[in-house]
Amino acid sequence: MFVDVAKIYVKGGDGGNGVVAFRREKYVPRGGPSGGDGGKGGDVVLEVDPNLSTLQDFKYKIHYKAEKGEHGQGSNKAGKNGEDLVIKVPPGTIVKDAETLEILADLVEPGQRFIVAKGGRGGRGNARFVSSVNQAPDFAEKGEPGEEKWIILELKLLADVGLIGFPNVGKSTLLSRMTAARPKIADYPFTTLTPNLGVVDLGPERKSFVVADIPGLIEGAHEGLGLGHDFLRHIERTKVLVHVIDGSGFEIDPVEGFYKINEELKQFSIKLTEKPQIVAVNKMDLEESRKNFPKILERLSKEGYEVLPISGATGFGIKDLINKIVEYLNREKDKEIHFEVPEEEVKRYTFKKSEDIRVEKGGNIFYVKGKVVERLVAMTDLENESAVKRLQRTLKKMGIDDMLKEKGIKEGDIVKIGDAEFYYFE
Ligand code: GDP
Ligand code: MG
Repeated sequence: MFVDVAKIYVKGGDGGNGVVAFRREKYVPRGGPSGGDGGKGGDVVLEVDPNLSTLQDFKYKIHYKAEKGEHGQGSNKAGKNGEDLVIKVPPGTIVKDAETLEILADLVEPGQRFIVAKGGRGGRGNARFVSSVNQAPDFAEKGEPGEEKWIILELKLLADVGLIGFPNVGKSTLLSRMTAARPKIADYPFTTLTPNLGVVDLGPERKSFVVADIPGLIEGAHEGLGLGHDFLRHIERTKVLVHVIDGSGFEIDPVEGFYKINEELKQFSIKLTEKPQIVAVNKMDLEESRKNFPKILERLSKEGYEVLPISGATGFGIKDLINKIVEYLNREKDKEIHFEVPEEEVKRYTFKKSEDIRVEKGGNIFYVKGKVVERLVAMTDLENESAVKRLQRTLKKMGIDDMLKEKGIKEGDIVKIGDAEFYYFE
């Protein structure tokens, strides 16, 4: 099968900082602590959108960040939570961690959601640190950084549009004309391997779609010859067929050929005959085709078909054909039912809590590593003495002092945790 791949960066919003504030009361120089908590950062959420069929949009935009939480305020006012960032992906998208290649989610059902990068929680304001021993805490917690990672999206491509018609009517030429006209197609790894599938890329504003050339339909394919059954099943999932006929009639009378193919289609797959068909009269650059066209148009439009003159060789009429296909695809799309997935079914991907903390030594620098401890430091306001004292106590409780001693730390050595640096003193 044909696989489309994209690599993107996602980051949940950072939590807002908690603040240090004290109530202002008459005749009281310093009232009780009243610093509010920071808001939670938004999550980055992937959501299945049945209207999408490729990962083409991810070629234009690589970085996705959810909104930060706002900082807390005085008077115990909490900061506002950041908005979630919802990224739409096509059905069938597999999500992998780019570093570990672990599969994080398999997104299938329309409306299915998956939190791929959690927003950080808001830091607590000083009002939250009141205790029996400290009635007026003068420190607050900073917001938790949002989770960030590179992920790989993978999608087995399904064709939206199938090209049918007799051999030599110009299907392959048309396919390469429709797709090669868009520069981005060159990025697709399968173009050289499987020339019978292409993406029509209409830029970031419009939805791209996948076209499959269905070769050799007439040559006994319904008996399972030539084409693999996988391919047949693939084709059965197309939404629109473009029936290409050779207007010149050199090999077969164009109208007669049209009916013959539809007859063949019926034996091949009933499902295919139910698809809407657009008729593309090809090779309009030839004198004979131009002569035959009015007759073909009259005959087939009487039967309700839309008939478009094109030339795969010169590019004539291709834009109109693409617009017509988009129109049909939109019509098909409206027939689909939309689902809402209840919130509790949202799968959550959370930090690994039990992650080991370790100390590595490089010269006289000691690196303390581990998500939990790095997060703790990131959430501490290192400018604030009380906050730093609290951090030191927590680190000690976590056993990090002992681990450092075990590695032979001495007075004045440097300890690095995440982005922060400390001098070590007993
Ligand atoms: P397929 O068998 O349906 O895939 O047809 P091909 O795309 O392989 O084309 C068959 C032949 O028709 C080739 O020689 C093409 O060069 C020619 N052909 C395709 N499109 C056009 C066209 O628009 N005008 C003319 N004059 N020839 C074309
Ligand atoms: Mg061909």
